[in-house]
Order: sequence, then structure tokens, then C-alpha cells
Amino acid sequence: RFLVFEGIDGAGKSTQIAALSEWLQAQGVATVTTREPGGTPVGEAIRTLVLTHDMHAETELMLICAARREHLLTVIDPALAAGRWVVCDRFADASFAYQVGGRGVDRERFRQLDEWTRSGRQPDLVFLFDLPVAAAAKRRANRDLSDGPSACDRFERESEAFFAAVRAAYLARAAQDPERYCVLDAQLPPERLTEIVLATVAQRWFA
Ligand code: C5P
Repeated sequence: RFLVFEGIDGAGKSTQIAALSEWLQAQGVATVTTREPGGTPVGEAIRTLVLTHDMHAETELMLICAARREHLLTVIDPALAAGRWVVCDRFADASFAYQVGGRGVDRERFRQLDEWTRSGRQPDLVFLFDLPVAAAAKRRANRDLSDGPSACDRFERESEAFFAAVRAAYLARAAQDPERYCVLDAQLPPERLTEIVLATVAQRWFA
């Protein structure tokens, strides 16, 4: 199975990804936990490039898709073929949300490149951590204070309008395919979110 976590910066995905991976391992499921942009040496180099350099939105999309292609071919597909579960922090919906929704890349351009990049690979389930942009901004500010200024990438300096567009694009994607998306209120306490995530997975595949 291929499970993906999505949401705007500060939504609290990381804690839940760790909890789900730990739970899956405890069920005896061989699990690969990975992230985008990143997940491979080339992907991590592209991540650094994208997070630290201003560039045209189309360049950004192409770089992130290149990282995704490498990730798919060398990590995700082989793991799934070997019967492992893959838990991934962000996947193709993030490109739709950030590069199309946030940065305004043409939808049709995205559709073509995305089709090429994924070759039909789809997550079995996407957890979308949804929260109002003001609440997310507050969380990011707190995180940056504790992590120091180096934690601040160029996306974290984006405006509320940018994140509002990203959020809306995520929600629009989720609304198109309610079977595949589980939209969660990221303002719930973390323990409650963990319960919901685990119960959703347990109900689908461990009942
Ligand atoms: O989720 P994570 O914090 O690892 O994402 C790194 C950064 O990359 C985030 O600031 C996110 O806004 C950005 N990003 C992006 N487009 C994507 C995926 C992530 O702009 N397709």
C-alpha cells in the first residue's frame, strides 16, 4: 500500500507520519517512510536547490517532478513491488497545491508533466491535514523560534494569500476523490489525530 500525507506547512504531518510508521511496524508490516521533495540522494539535492533558490514557477515544478520521478523509480515502485508499504510525506498533490494553486503554473502543463512523472502511480490513501492559514503561520513562527533561523526556507516566508491558495487547491483535489482522501482537521489535538489516522488505516486494511 502507498499512503501519503499532505497539508500546508505547519499542519503537523511529521508527528502523524512517525506514529503511523511505528504502528505499521508493530503490526509486522514492512514499511518504508520517505518524503518529497527528497527521498533519494538526487531528490534531496533538488530539495535543497528548490528551497534555497528563487526560480520561475515552471522550473520549480520541473525540478520537483524530476525528484519525484527518481523517487518513484528507485524507492517507491521497488518497495511496493517487494510488498512493502510506503508512507510518504507529500506526493503529486503537493505539486498541484503549491506550483499550480500557489504559484499559478498552468493546469494543463501540470497535468501533462504529472502524467509523465507518475506513470499512473497513485496513493491508495491521502491524509490531508487541513487548517486555516493563520493557525499554520502561528505554528511555523513557533517552530522557527525553536529551530533557529536556518529552518526558514523560502516557502516559509510566503504570504498568507499564497498559503490560502495552496490550501484551497488541496481541498479541491480532495473533493474530487473522497474515497482516496481523508481530510483531517489539523487543529485537533495530536493524540486525537493519531487515533483517527490509525483507525482509518485499521478499518481499511486490518479489519
Ligand atoms: O513538507 P516539507 O516541509 O518537507 O516541504 C518542504 C517545503 O517544500 C515546504 O515549504 C513546501 O512548501 C515546499 N513544497 C513545494 N512544492 C511541493 C512540495 C513541497 O513548494 N511540491
